[in-house]
Amino acid sequence: MSEDGTRSIDGYTSEDGGDVSTERPLLNRRLNGFGTTIFAEMSALATTTGAINLGQGFPDTDGPEAIREAAVRALREGKGNQYPPGPGVPELRAAISAHQERFHGLSPDPDTEVLVTAGATEAIAAAMLALLEPGDEVIAFEPFYDSYTACIAMAGAKHVPLTLRAPSFRPDLDELRSKITPRTRLLLLNTPHNPTGTVLTREELTAIAALAVERDLLVVTDEVYEHLVYDDSAHIPIATFPGMHERTVTISSAGKTFSFTGWKVGWITGSSALVAAVRTAKQYLTYVSSGPFQYAIAEALHLPETYFDGIRADMRRKRDLLGDGLRAAGFEVYQPQGTYFITTDITPLGEKDAYAFCRTLPERCGVVAIPNSVFYDDPDAGRSQVRFAFCKQDDVLHEATNRLRRLAS
Ligand code: PMP
Ligand code: GLN
Repeated sequence: MSEDGTRSIDGYTSEDGGDVSTERPLLNRRLNGFGTTIFAEMSALATTTGAINLGQGFPDTDGPEAIREAAVRALREGKGNQYPPGPGVPELRAAISAHQERFHGLSPDPDTEVLVTAGATEAIAAAMLALLEPGDEVIAFEPFYDSYTACIAMAGAKHVPLTLRAPSFRPDLDELRSKITPRTRLLLLNTPHNPTGTVLTREELTAIAALAVERDLLVVTDEVYEHLVYDDSAHIPIATFPGMHERTVTISSAGKTFSFTGWKVGWITGSSALVAAVRTAKQYLTYVSSGPFQYAIAEALHLPETYFDGIRADMRRKRDLLGDGLRAAGFEVYQPQGTYFITTDITPLGEKDAYAFCRTLPERCGVVAIPNSVFYDDPDAGRSQVRFAFCKQDDVLHEATNRLRRLAS
């Protein structure tokens, strides 16, 4: 193997008929350009520099003690220590269904319309691999959560971005209509939206659903931040709209709702035909995962309303705390209606390039953030946008914003 990671492949025939060695990159061309995820890159930078990590979205305190104890109990009682059933343990599938009913009025059949996955990440991958043919087009909001483009590429399909533009980051529905072609197979939605914090309104969802029905499109909707919506915004699953049950795969995850991102318990719900299709791909990815944690999350999904109200109120307060600090430090702040994240613009600080800014921010201020430019097909579109996570302890957020004030001086 050569130093640049290429490998000689023997047996290729040159035009004059002789055998030659041809250099071929190890990484297949579908993944060309994907490299290391920005989250891994920036978290590694936080570790090596000791900076405060407001990059990758994970809370710095664990979720409810009773749920941690439920996981310990499951381990001790030998529940889930061996392969759980492929679709997920029955207790968790029933709890997912009951949760969908309690919060959204949906009632997926736990046996045929629910599938447990290794986090939402696997659900996204399995959905793309199961539902797409090479050459299909997938319309997804941009800026996008980075695994979308990688999974679309792995399925051999084409990503067609629909740009959410600052300052409002609302989808332009006429533009959406204009992007649908005969090759469009699927709309990949994300609400509440990472990284902008946009929460789709009932009007927007009504229009998108009508378009999906009219053009006979599948919809995969990533709703991992379903409980993290603030102020007057409300999360409404698009699966609740007329004609959507049979064409929608709804994805969610315990990571954000219960502050256990490392447990990797996610799920999909949808019609039995869609769930069966996604299960076909999923069983060859991880087959199963997170055995004992599945039992614990089954308990978490039954927590009383006060838990869900509490985390929402807590995160809203943190959003405001970080938002005020970022404004004071000179950033332009785009107020998010949901998620863990605030997107900012660094232009008022005299900065232009989000990636360069984030690379040097640990040295300059001891803080790590994420450049939104990597979430665009055209990096120029988000060139000066930087994302900060507020799912951290209050004193950490105070300290981070105090440090960021150095930028203004
Ligand atoms: N979708 C979005 C929009 C996310 O921000 C994340 C990161 N948490 C995921 C999916 C992945 O979720 P999980 O950790 O459950 O795999
Ligand atoms: N969803 C998290 C974020 O947006 C990161 C998850 C990951 O590292 N893949 O920051």
